Amino acid sequence: MTNFKIKLIAVASLLIVAVMQTSASIKKEKSIKPNFIVIFADDLGYGDIGVYGHPTIKTPNLDRMAFEGQKWTNFYAASSVCSPSRAALLTGRLPIRTGITGVLFPNSNAGLPQSEISVAKVLKDNGYKTAAIGKWHLGHKSPFLPTDHGFDSYYGIPYSNDMNREEEIEGKDWIDGQIILAEKEKYSAYKLPLLRNQQVIEMPVDQRTITQRYTEEAVAKIKTMKDSHFFIYLAHSLPHIPLFRSQKFKHVSKAGIYGDVVEEIDWSVGQILNTLKEEGLDENTLVIFTSDNGPWQTFKTHSGSAGLLQGAKGGTFEGGFRVPAIFSWPGKIKPGVVMQMGTTMDLMPTICDLSGSKLPKDRIYDGFDISNVLLKNGESLREDFFYYRGDQVYAVRKGAYKAHFITRLDMNNIRTSLFVSDPEIEIGKKPTVLETPLLYNLNADPSEKYNIAKEHPEIIAEIRKLLKDHESSINKAIFKKEKELQD
Ligand code: MG
Repeated sequence: MTNFKIKLIAVASLLIVAVMQTSASIKKEKSIKPNFIVIFADDLGYGDIGVYGHPTIKTPNLDRMAFEGQKWTNFYAASSVCSPSRAALLTGRLPIRTGITGVLFPNSNAGLPQSEISVAKVLKDNGYKTAAIGKWHLGHKSPFLPTDHGFDSYYGIPYSNDMNREEEIEGKDWIDGQIILAEKEKYSAYKLPLLRNQQVIEMPVDQRTITQRYTEEAVAKIKTMKDSHFFIYLAHSLPHIPLFRSQKFKHVSKAGIYGDVVEEIDWSVGQILNTLKEEGLDENTLVIFTSDNGPWQTFKTHSGSAGLLQGAKGGTFEGGFRVPAIFSWPGKIKPGVVMQMGTTMDLMPTICDLSGSKLPKDRIYDGFDISNVLLKNGESLREDFFYYRGDQVYAVRKGAYKAHFITRLDMNNIRTSLFVSDPEIEIGKKPTVLETPLLYNLNADPSEKYNIAKEHPEIIAEIRKLLKDHESSINKAIFKKEKELQD
């Protein structure tokens, strides 16, 4: 054998050993599967947490979670109302792809179609134990319940906590935009079921203790599932109106009843983080805290704040869609403030990657894997975001720029105090298609106050093309089919 051949064989052997070692270390890395806990608040605004700038609501647990982990400042819910936002978080897909484009009600026969694959289902197929706790709002009858969508167990109120209200009190429970029933603690006015898996175990549910009970359930689940890998989806029913809090949190906040409720949710976060630490699970658990949409400002001081952002729940200005998002994973996450764009739809591909689970290949995903940002402070792949209202795109963000193609007031035709004051800009009760879209630079003007459309027709043209390409990617036939299934 020539010297050259011997050298070649030696080099090849070294390469094979190196490849084997690398794949063994990747395998080992993947075999240490992390746990995941997603805590999803309801109608909590961008400005409602201490670390996001609220001056009088105390949130020490969330603040600490943000300082030790990552706080994202350009993170979006996929919709500015409840059901579509939840469908998108759990599937990684835009509401228009799943057919859940509007809010479901107690008389709806619809729900998240069986053809949709939730993150819980993917994790369960990969050996995870899974639990859903709290508000579901993706269909309250089988086969649409959490236990039909990959969750081993469910404990919670299956839709919004203001639904099934007694008829005789209809119209008498608002005074100047406040829900007085909450102040009177009349939880019994809302005929809401509490479900354990698929069985009603309490009716009407006592909402005064609901945050406390969801928390106890989450803590118990951590303890009972700790010997396996687990995923807990804790979707709080609050601070959606009507507001209720337990005895311990009455009149504790300078911000009134809304502050009390948020401070109880912050306590809940603390209980979960403490339990993970006590059980030695904190360094192997990614905890994510975010909200399903912006504040429902119809209810004045019973609702939250979008901080410096314009708009609120139901609308397509930033306050409706941009939400707090905090990621915690001690020892793994690169702490800091992330100003790149992210969405709740990114959680599905990210969790799949971190757990070594397979993202189904037979469908379009609208989320990106952001594990590179979480673990290495790398670049987010997301460059754009589409603001849907129902099945229509009203606005599009590309990089720093956002163009509004259609305008309409927020939910219940609310005009927030920050709403554009430019007399040339028409924002009414009905959708208005603008001949020249509004254009804002969100980095320089996060409150969307200074329309720069006239100065930058080329940016509008670019965003218009992006919108056209996006719309052609939406398979309307699938959407139509799903709608038929639901009706
Ligand atoms: Mg909501």
